[in-house]
Amino acid sequence: MNILIINSGSSSLKFQCLDMDSKTTKCKGQIERIGLETGLITYKPGSGDALRKEEKITDHGAAMAIVLDLITGEEHGVLGYSDIEAVTHRFVHGGDKISKAEPITEDLIRIIKDNFDLAPLHNPPALKGFLAAKEHMPHIPHIGIFDTAFHSTIPPENYLYAIPGIYNEKYQIRKFGFHGASHKWAALKTAEYLGMPHEELNSVSIHIGGGVSAAAIRGGKSIDTSVGFGTNAGMSMGTRSGDLDTDVIFFMQENLGMTIPEIRELLYRKSGLLGLSEVSSDMRDVIAAAREGNKKAALAIGNFSHLARRYIAALSTNLEDRMDALVFTAGIGENSPFIREEICRGLGILGIRLDNDKNKAVKGETGVISSGDSSVKVLVIPTNEEMMMAIETRDVVLAMNNTGEAK
Ligand code: ADP
Repeated sequence: MNILIINSGSSSLKFQCLDMDSKTTKCKGQIERIGLETGLITYKPGSGDALRKEEKITDHGAAMAIVLDLITGEEHGVLGYSDIEAVTHRFVHGGDKISKAEPITEDLIRIIKDNFDLAPLHNPPALKGFLAAKEHMPHIPHIGIFDTAFHSTIPPENYLYAIPGIYNEKYQIRKFGFHGASHKWAALKTAEYLGMPHEELNSVSIHIGGGVSAAAIRGGKSIDTSVGFGTNAGMSMGTRSGDLDTDVIFFMQENLGMTIPEIRELLYRKSGLLGLSEVSSDMRDVIAAAREGNKKAALAIGNFSHLARRYIAALSTNLEDRMDALVFTAGIGENSPFIREEICRGLGILGIRLDNDKNKAVKGETGVISSGDSSVKVLVIPTNEEMMMAIETRDVVLAMNNTGEAK
């Protein structure tokens, strides 16, 4: 089965075509700067040469036409138009109504729209991307995958904020959790690696890339997570502050005269690694600056590692008496032995011990980095959100075929 995965942002459309029989990526690319004077197209067909082109792209519909032309066209195509059997659309927020991947129906579109306010930067463009793709490919199933779905198993005592219940009941003000496909993939691959049934896995996974989140997995299911109602909670990130005493926001507004949009801009785009280091939001730059003696960069890394460590310890309390694994994933988690070491340094209290040589050797690949006497296995699992989404899509499509729904 060939599945096209679409991830639409407000001015971008990322795509990837996966062959589920061979589990390979047939092609991938992205259309950026949609609606601006000059748009940017990048595309990499399988083993072929990468392509980069600038041209005006008026809207998501035009972007979708370009995508189809690239992947099925004579010049750069990797498969025929009729070989695309399903399309996956990634939505960040499904609110409290969505717990799994689903075919996109009128009812689902209503739910997606109902959650526009909870993910204003993500849900509206993703819906636009879906509408454009549906117009071009009306004959095949379109499946919605929601970042929040994997965390729908978090129980109320863990997802509720301690504010009057009406705010949750009426406005869905509660913790949701994100990076669902990444944490789910990490859990499946960890269980596979450890040779245990997925339904028995107790672990903490930490996704550390541009965005950062951790999840506690008990019996293979998400039971708690560091991110919350929105995407700036828990650990600090590239440009986001993570957890913050609410009084900081009141003080900024009341005493510093800052407006709510200004505070939001500060906390989402100018904080985290960037804010503390004053160097960059990219961990590689911050590490390089710290190695050259930049004290602010070193402090930013210290703060980043402290928060990660604190969340790993806090989330581990959900696992009762057995933690099978601590799992590092995403850009920093997969590629930086230094940051993994910084984070694990304070986790001896949980019986977590790294093997320094193994830690240094594992970069961008699956591997165990804990020592033989560590009471918890520490693993690196490269994230593969696209494959996770494609697997879920395939399962939904097969179920639809079985019930005759796809026809
Ligand atoms: P996203 O998809 O959220 O943009 P990624 O998962 O690609 O993010 O992770 C990006 C982060 O990973 C950046 O901060 C980058 O500096 C970091 N990163 C990638 N490789 C390394 C490395 N070798 N050492 C340290 N950090 C790295």
